Amino acid sequence: MRVGIGYDAHRLVEGRPLVLGGVEIPYRLGLEGWSDADVLLHAIIDAMLGAAAAGDIGEHFPDADPAYRGISSLKLLALTRNVVEDKGFTLSGVDSVVILQEPSLRAHRDRIRECIAEALLLPFDRVSVKAKTSEGMGFTGRGEGIAAYAVVLLEG
Ligand code: MG
Repeated sequence: MRVGIGYDAHRLVEGRPLVLGGVEIPYRLGLEGWSDADVLLHAIIDAMLGAAAAGDIGEHFPDADPAYRGISSLKLLALTRNVVEDKGFTLSGVDSVVILQEPSLRAHRDRIRECIAEALLLPFDRVSVKAKTSEGMGFTGRGEGIAAYAVVLLEG
């Protein structure tokens, strides 16, 4: 068994949709970045690559490459699944935490879990997504950005 950890953070800006775990969340701000800036999926991708000792997201999907500009990170997640499977691993489960002051993800959490499970061809009950505020402290607490952590387990 191999464990991997992933982390990501993106800045909140005007004029961008907020996409978390492949789901568009209604909010007045969105995340800035290449692709759709889906901070949660980027953390999960890095956790998967980390568990397989297969580099990181920037190496596999460089932001200088126009092929990935504006791409849905769900596609990148599915491609990452191929990378770890080609190395002989099977994904056992995903746990994750999104750190944001607002909006509340409570109503969207199961839809996010479904999206991730679908892209990874995993049963719903092997994908966990949690949301926490940082009680007003730091960049997430001030609403300047959103951060995410993920842990995955690979078997192989
Ligand atoms: Mg990112």
